Amino acid sequence: MLSKRWVGKFSNDLAIDLGTANTLAFVRGLFKRWVEKFSNDLAIDLGTANTLVFVRGEGIVINEPSVVAIHEADQSIIAVGRGAKAMLGRTPGNIRVIRPLKEGVIADFDVTEQMLSYFIAQGHRWHRTFLRPRVVVGVPSGITQVEQRAVRDAALHAGARAVYLVEEPVAAAMGAGLPINEPGGNLIVDIGGGTTEVAVLSLAGVIYCKSVRIAGDHMDEAIRQHIRKHYNLLIGERRAEEIKINLGSAYPGDGEQRTIDVKGRDLVDGFPKSVVLTEDDVREALRDAVMAIVATVRTCLEQTPPELAADIVDTGIVITGGGGLLRGLDRLLGTETQLPVTVAKDPMSCVALGIGRILDELELLKKVATPA
Ligand code: ADP
Ligand code: MG
Repeated sequence: MLSKRWVGKFSNDLAIDLGTANTLAFVRGLFKRWVEKFSNDLAIDLGTANTLVFVRGEGIVINEPSVVAIHEADQSIIAVGRGAKAMLGRTPGNIRVIRPLKEGVIADFDVTEQMLSYFIAQGHRWHRTFLRPRVVVGVPSGITQVEQRAVRDAALHAGARAVYLVEEPVAAAMGAGLPINEPGGNLIVDIGGGTTEVAVLSLAGVIYCKSVRIAGDHMDEAIRQHIRKHYNLLIGERRAEEIKINLGSAYPGDGEQRTIDVKGRDLVDGFPKSVVLTEDDVREALRDAVMAIVATVRTCLEQTPPELAADIVDTGIVITGGGGLLRGLDRLLGTETQLPVTVAKDPMSCVALGIGRILDELELLKKVATPA
């Protein structure tokens, strides 16, 4: 059916003055447009915690943890994504569960490449074309040339035809629906698994960006340490994350204090035991991490040129990334900065939706993406 459509389209167009250089250029252009039309371009948010894949014309088709489980013996893959994350902390010696990205950049190249291949193959199947896809990948603002090359090579080896890179804060702002094409300052705070990026944007570019290695993973670790210190109880990474998601907060709530039963291993006698943790406990554990994020926002505001700072008084701060779902974080940041703060709708999808929009609009792709 595809070929019939192709022939139909082509034969009509060829009925003009065959043989001239103009016609050849026209045919070439037509072919290029046809390739672009039918290739299954992908936008990938390769995050430390989660990888999202956006297919042009389809939306987000993959949203999985950036985790891979491999056999130690032959390095073969057992599971990728959710299946692999469920194995964290529960594997026998011959299986290793790896998070190949650390602090927003590739820490384990081979495993990242294998993970990307898996996700690209899935996204590709979704669209069913024989052409290799063009891939746009979101990368942290200010990553080094070497790190950029690592992302590009991983995507090319994983089957991409061409690779473009977009700075994550720009993508996050677009996904959050901010009018970044216009002159005017916007302040975006993206709190992911490994890093928090605070960026001031104007005219689709990053004016100033500061990145700190304090984000979701650090919060999980802070909860583990708190429970260890105050209750002599050892808990796993995944349990710490669950506690953060269910009971975590940055600002005292108005309602009744909630509690949670936490099970782990007693550090003194080595037996499994259970303690009751309160919301205040968890907020106390998260305090340093949360205040470090606030301090980063403050530094960024201090470095912002006055015209843009004046804009931000009106536009306020927009939070994206999974860490933005921490209860009361917007309220705390608002109190500390005296600025209006909003959490973007569906903060964990903002970067993928933003790169997706860039994929849809060729002009935008030329403007904000760098061919890698
Ligand atoms: P990345 O872009 O680095 O992959 P994400 O934007 O996907 O990160 O966010 C993942 C982080 O968000 C994880 O650390 C996760 O624990 C955290 N997170 C998810 N939901 C919540 C929640 N409700 N409260 C606090 N943190 C959350
Ligand atoms: Mg992210």
